[in-house]
Amino acid sequence: MLNMTLKKITKIIVVGTALLFLTSCSKTDNAASGSTQTPAVAAQQTYHWKLVTSWPKNFPGLGVAPERLATWVKEMSGGRLQVKVYGAGELVPALEVFDAVSRGTAEMGHSGAYYWKGKAPEAQFFSSVPFGLNAQEMNAWLHYGGGLELWQEVYEPFGLIPLAGGNSGVQMAGWFNKEINSIEDIKGLKMRIPGLGGEVMTRLGALTENLPGGEIFTALQTGRIDATEWVGPYNDLAFGLNKAAKFYYYPGWHEPGTTMELTVNKKSFDALPKDLQTILTVAARAVNQDMLDEYTAKNNAALKQLMENSDIQLRPLPTDVLEKLKEVSDQVVLELSETNPNAKRIYKSFNEFRSNVIDYHKISEQAFINARQTP
Ligand code: CA
Repeated sequence: MLNMTLKKITKIIVVGTALLFLTSCSKTDNAASGSTQTPAVAAQQTYHWKLVTSWPKNFPGLGVAPERLATWVKEMSGGRLQVKVYGAGELVPALEVFDAVSRGTAEMGHSGAYYWKGKAPEAQFFSSVPFGLNAQEMNAWLHYGGGLELWQEVYEPFGLIPLAGGNSGVQMAGWFNKEINSIEDIKGLKMRIPGLGGEVMTRLGALTENLPGGEIFTALQTGRIDATEWVGPYNDLAFGLNKAAKFYYYPGWHEPGTTMELTVNKKSFDALPKDLQTILTVAARAVNQDMLDEYTAKNNAALKQLMENSDIQLRPLPTDVLEKLKEVSDQVVLELSETNPNAKRIYKSFNEFRSNVIDYHKISEQAFINARQTP
């Protein structure tokens, strides 16, 4: 009995001493860090931000991603960072997102880096490179291969911080009102296709342009264009592109894993307390993965739905057409690398990563997918 009581007393003393020690440590920490009132004031402040996008408000996948970011940021910050999302045209037109965030009209933007090739051609490396990297590889290059740091350097002169904000996975080659049986069929084809893929098609004789998503259906239906790429089954169905063209070609050679971008006005970001900066960065990372998960799940169901209409013809691009597209793509990307010193450095990083990951994925992802298809 006596022994037990002594043990109990000893335990109480040990726990009590530990608590006293912890309390005194915590007091010391407060004393050390509490020299100014700034963190306390910043911690109480509520930030109201605007986020402009290149997508119709709440558009599946693309438009939902910034809404999720806003919800998560608000909840994680206990309401201290509130982000209001604007669809394309609500505050600024779809293709003026970059400028709007750069000049501070909005604190954030959600768009695609290839839309800004007129400002910084090398930005295209951070959205999609024809025959480049798929989603998994793109995320790996950006977050563990030095890609994001290079991207930040490119956007710094514009007062912007870029973050990956979603990925479409491999897209579809697009909807065509004309059959593509040989490379000759590309000549004179009027097609909506942005970025480097557009440049490749132009060199092969197509007449390309980049229309904002919201204008594609009408352009295709009225015959202003003969073909368009958009994203994949889930998003294409949302725009009803299956009602405007009947040949649905794959694969999306031009956009094998397109990264959407979240841009943050640097001054606004720097003015946030550290914890809100972390919340925003982590929320972006979550949104980036979340979009890919959603597309992967919903594209399957959407493709099935699209194919219920027997008029739709799902077709692979002919092998010789893909070979020619790849040859011209390699040339276009090489020329892009010669645009300026930044482009050269980015190309080197991107290309080395691509070449290494191709070697590894031959014996991992690709070998597995091949093995899975074996009867
Ligand atoms: Ca696309």
